[in-house]
Amino acid sequence: MASSENSALKASWLRICDRLKGEVGDVEYRMWIQRITLGPLDDDEITLYLPERFLRDWVRAQYGQRLQSLWREENPAVQHVELRIDKKAQRAAKTGDDAPQAEEGGGAANLSISAMANEDAAALDREEAVAATSPSMNEVRNDLAVPLDRRFTFDNFVVGKPNEFAYACAGRVADHPASPGFNPLFLYGGVGLGKTHLMHAIGLKLISRGNISVAYMSAEKFMYRFIASMQSKSQMEFKEQLRSVDVLMIDDLQFLIGKNSTQEEFFHTFNALVDAGRQIIVSADKSPSDLSGLEDRLRTRLGCGMVADIHATTFELRISILEAKAKASGTPVPPKVLEYLAHKITTNVRELEGALNRLIAHADLVGRPVTLESTQDVLKDMLKAHERRVTIDEIQRKVAEHFNIRLTDMSSARRARAVARPRQIAMYLAKQLTSRSLPEIGRKFGNRDHTTVMHAVNRISELMEQDPGLAESVELLRHMLES
Ligand code: ADP
Ligand code: MG
Repeated sequence: MASSENSALKASWLRICDRLKGEVGDVEYRMWIQRITLGPLDDDEITLYLPERFLRDWVRAQYGQRLQSLWREENPAVQHVELRIDKKAQRAAKTGDDAPQAEEGGGAANLSISAMANEDAAALDREEAVAATSPSMNEVRNDLAVPLDRRFTFDNFVVGKPNEFAYACAGRVADHPASPGFNPLFLYGGVGLGKTHLMHAIGLKLISRGNISVAYMSAEKFMYRFIASMQSKSQMEFKEQLRSVDVLMIDDLQFLIGKNSTQEEFFHTFNALVDAGRQIIVSADKSPSDLSGLEDRLRTRLGCGMVADIHATTFELRISILEAKAKASGTPVPPKVLEYLAHKITTNVRELEGALNRLIAHADLVGRPVTLESTQDVLKDMLKAHERRVTIDEIQRKVAEHFNIRLTDMSSARRARAVARPRQIAMYLAKQLTSRSLPEIGRKFGNRDHTTVMHAVNRISELMEQDPGLAESVELLRHMLES
């Protein structure tokens, strides 16, 4: 590489670093970006080095795109950014032997932690340099918890069958933290069903009543802070801060699967807090016993308090949530539209909320009221994405399985109720969950006429209103098909 080219590259890199620092903030900059070293430019590809795999993967995932576009802006000769592990730096890191958290068989994070610990050891004689580049203790301290979202209150949480138990448990913990039987409180359920909302609601209520310290963070942040504390040799501070709170909430614990060092740290924090009579609240996507990949002793302790699951939403709950949110927005939304949304968007509340917000924003923008037509139009892509996944074959298979009839009966001429009703349900679901037309659906069901399909759809809609058992079966099938 010619030396002028070399110094131009260096200058570009410095400017990119500067911009990134502004974008990501000091702490993240020092944690990740500052560990990058500039490599050579080959053709249109610039190489950047990181000392180890975990850092490389992290930087690639978090900043890869951004690095590429910043380089392209800086220097049009650069089109691609290649992130590599620098073997030399890695070897240097491995020579240290002060590796307090080193262990076998863990995931990427362990590699990082032990390697970081090693690196720190190797850098002991560069004390000043370390002090100058590590996040200061104050930053770590100020960064400990994440602020609570003021919108996520108990009042704003709509209660229905699927979440009433979790809601009651959350309310109980907010009123009487650390009471026997409720510590830890373990909330679990699928994405977008209100776990984070309930945790914030507990935190907000506790804080509103006065002098109590509450720390909320995701498990990912927990790991991030933990690594940062190792790097800056402030583990003790980190531990003390965590152990000084009255209530600790860790969201999305499943993130710690495979991250054994962080799990271990969490386990100790957990024990220390519970032993001291403080409240722990944890959320995850599965129950403690189903979180395989978490250490057994941790799973056991997590299941020792109150375990509450949030089930998938029902049609009624979705309607209530939509009604509440529409009312709060102040924009009138016709009941037909709410019903339509509650039928179409069944996966989770976040998407439901997103769809409603989009409708309302659109109506405000164009100055016209929300109607069923405008809804179908505005949400076209969103609804299509929901429909794409389910096929009529799948629907027929699931429904036949559920009602214990033969798959061939979906297209047979048999009219016995035991066969005809499930067939109608399958037609109804095909209409609801796919974008197929009535004649297309008819053909899939043994070449039936489109009027037969229409009749089935109407009949099942009617029956669902009269027969809660049937309505539940249909909702269950819908849920299974969509998840
Ligand atoms: P999770 O943490 O389980 O993935 P969140 O708590 O982030 O889900 O909820 C996603 C969104 O849906 C949030 O905006 C939340 O306020 C809203 N939400 C979920 N459940 C309810 C509910 N029962 N009532 C009102 N809003 C809800
Ligand atoms: Mg969440």
